[in-house]
Amino acid sequence: MPLGEFDLIERFFSRQAARPDVLLGVGDDAALLAVPAGKILVAATDTLVEGRHFLPDAPPDSVGHQALAVNLSDLAAMGAEPAWVLLSLSLPDADPAWLESFAAGLYALAERHDVALVGGDTVRGPRVVTITALGFVESTLALRRDGARPGDLLYVSGWPGEAAAGLELLRGGACASDDPLVRRCRYAEPRIALGRALAGLASAAMDVSDGLLGDLAKLCASSGVGAVIDLERLPVSAELARRHVASDSERFVLNGGDDYELLFTLSPAAAAEVEALASRELPLHRIGRIEAGRGVQCRRDGRPVGVPTGGYDHFA
Ligand code: ADP
Ligand code: MG
Repeated sequence: MPLGEFDLIERFFSRQAARPDVLLGVGDDAALLAVPAGKILVAATDTLVEGRHFLPDAPPDSVGHQALAVNLSDLAAMGAEPAWVLLSLSLPDADPAWLESFAAGLYALAERHDVALVGGDTVRGPRVVTITALGFVESTLALRRDGARPGDLLYVSGWPGEAAAGLELLRGGACASDDPLVRRCRYAEPRIALGRALAGLASAAMDVSDGLLGDLAKLCASSGVGAVIDLERLPVSAELARRHVASDSERFVLNGGDDYELLFTLSPAAAAEVEALASRELPLHRIGRIEAGRGVQCRRDGRPVGVPTGGYDHFA
């Protein structure tokens, strides 16, 4: 018997929310949610379209993971604590095996961060997944893109570029699903703890979703400043370095997106406190600085160099 819309919601998306601030979750016309006193609501939404943001043969659990991760990463980049999500699903058919795996990937990430699925919508159509994520932050501590000032130091977390290298492997066909780069492309973890730690400390922040260079250009434009990247300081992971020549690794780091790393700026006064947070699990790399002016300049050993750019733009 084919699965109806209501059976589908009931079977795959009705896990009881563990959070006391969910007054009413899936099942009514809308969810009722309690925002803690003294905090403000932070809202983000992102859509994944099959064939554009994920490959038709992607493991469904990785699609569930990514749809949530990309949204949690946006909340992290605001310094917010994630709390609730809404899931809008368009599906060509109610394939129970696909849904089971998709829900497992989504709930696994949600439960790691105590995030509750509180509602959504389910329709028939091409496979498209939209998640709306809601969280909160102390009103004066939110991280924005427009606060970078000349003299600030520029940082990126972790190992950007690995997900793009993994995507290239997937596009090329023959690759193992347990390849570390492929896993990084499918199951990268949003930097929620770092975003929380930076709230009130960083002068500006954003997550790297379209590529470090392109995203930094956006941060600079918002803040009305320029930036210099010292290419010799770029973090190249051991895995990238082992598998690619230096120029290709650099290209992945500068132009790859979707590792959910955070790009942020710190006043020199805040730098020591933040650098003390760094660990093996949370590498923090100072890659340059903010200057007066406009645009992003790359330097190698102090000399300006041109680098090929190519952030992702859907309408370019
Ligand atoms: P309505 O017609 O009132 O919008 P729906 O039939 O669309 O109601 O949804 C019924 C309930 O199931 C609502 O509480 C809605 O939030 C929830 N819901 C629908 N689709 C999903 C989904 N994919 N994931 C989680 N909750 C969902
Ligand atoms: Mg509806």
